Amino acid sequence: MLKKNWFRKEPPKSKPEGDLFRDLKDVIPVIRKQGEPPTKDPGSFSRYICDLCSTPHAISELRQCVLCGRWGCENCWKDEFYTCKSCAGIIKIHGIRGKE
Ligand SMILES: [Zn+2]
Ligand SMILES: [Zn+2]
Repeated sequence: MLKKNWFRKEPPKSKPEGDLFRDLKDVIPVIRKQGEPPTKDPGSFSRYICDLCSTPHAISELRQCVLCGRWGCENCWKDEFYTCKSCAGIIKIHGIRGKE
């Protein structure tokens, strides 16, 4: 009897988005706090490093992921979820669909 409870999970049901984000925050490690600036490119004065592909970009080309807090360039960004590619992958694994 106890063994069964060990694996017990909450039954899946449609949740409001607030809950969804809370769930995702349990599985996605936060790399940066929201509002924390990206890493400056040591080789230039006005560029910043994309946290995902580690290439320098202008600040206007980087966006901060709302889930993990990493800064992503256009190539590392998923508009579908408004997160970085990495988090978008996790969202997909969890079967959550983007807004369409
Ligand atoms: Zn990138
Ligand atoms: Zn992310």
